[in-house]
Amino acid sequence: MQTPLHCVETRSLTFGYSSTEPVLKSIDLKVEQGSIYGFLGPNGAGKTTTLRLILGLLKIQTGQVSIFGKDLAKGRLEILRQVGSMIESPSLYGHLTAYENLALLCKVYRCSTDAINQALELVDLTQTKNKKVSQFSLGMKQRLGIAVALLHRPPLLILDEPTNGLDPNGIIEMRALLKKLNKESGTTIVISSHLLAEIEKLVSHVGIIHQGKMRFQGTLEKLQLLTRQNNDTVTIETDNMPATKEIVEQLGHRCEVGEGYVLIKNITKANIAVVNASLVASSINVYGISSQTSYLENIFMEIINR
Ligand code: ATP
Repeated sequence: MQTPLHCVETRSLTFGYSSTEPVLKSIDLKVEQGSIYGFLGPNGAGKTTTLRLILGLLKIQTGQVSIFGKDLAKGRLEILRQVGSMIESPSLYGHLTAYENLALLCKVYRCSTDAINQALELVDLTQTKNKKVSQFSLGMKQRLGIAVALLHRPPLLILDEPTNGLDPNGIIEMRALLKKLNKESGTTIVISSHLLAEIEKLVSHVGIIHQGKMRFQGTLEKLQLLTRQNNDTVTIETDNMPATKEIVEQLGHRCEVGEGYVLIKNITKANIAVVNASLVASSINVYGISSQTSYLENIFMEIINR
C-alpha cells in the first residue's frame, strides 16, 4: 500500500506560553493530501496554538512542523505561500468594500484581478462586493475571510473555527463551500471546531485534542467504528415485552422497556447473538433487533474524558 502524502505533519510538538506546564504536549498531527481534517477539542484544548505554530505565527519551541514535506523552519515564506488561512476572526478593513479588501491583498500576493471576482463568486459575495465590510453580517465577514484565505488559490487551507458565530444556515453554507473547494479544486482543508456535530458531515479525517494531548487521530470511519465497538445500543422487538425484559436481565444486561421494544445499552455483538438465541429458545417471537449507533458526539465526550 502506498504511504499517503502528508500535507501537514507535526512531530512531537510541545509548546508553553510560560515556563509552567506546556499547553501542547508532543502533538503528532498528520493531514493527508486531499483530505478534510477536522481538528476537534473543547475550549482551551490547544487547537489555535497548534494551528498558529503550523502557520509560523508562534515560534516553535520543541518539535517540528513540515508542510508539503518541507521543514517549516527552513524556507518558511516559500512554504506558507502555498497555504491560505483564517485564524480566529478574519482581519478585514471595515471602511473598505469586500472588493477593495481583496484588491489590497491581490497586490500583496501579486495575483491577477480575475482572482478577486472568482473568490467573491466562490463565497457567494458577488452581489455584495461593493458594500462596506463594516456593514457586513458576521456570516458575510466569515465568508469574506475565506475569500481572503483562498484568493491566491492555495492547495492547503487552514481555518480556525470558521463557523464561529454563524447561524445554522450559515454553517450549512460554509460546509457546502468547503466541500466544493475540496472536491473541485482538490484543496486540502484543516478546520478546527469544538463541536463534532458541526463538522461531522464535512470531514474525512479527525484529530481530537484535549488538554494539549492528541487523544485520537484517524479517519471518520475509524472513529465511527470505535463508537460501534465501544457503545452498541440495540432495540429488540418481540411479541412478549415482559418476558423479553426478564430474559435480558437474567443474562446480566440492564435494559429499558419502551413502547413495543426493549432497549439494551453497551452490549457486544457476541452478546446480542446470545440474547437472540435465548429469546428464541424461550419461544418468544423476535420481530427485529436493530443496532443504534450512539452519536459521535458521545464518543467525542468519552475520548476527551478518558
Ligand atoms: P478555543 O476553542 O477556546 O479557541 P483552543 O483549543 O483553540 O481553544 P488555545 O487557544 O490554543 O485553545 O489555548 C490553549 C491554552 O493556552 C489555554 O489554556 C489558553 O488559556 C492558553 N493560551 C492561549 N493563548 C495564550 C496566550 N497568548 N498567553 C497565555 N496563554 C494562552
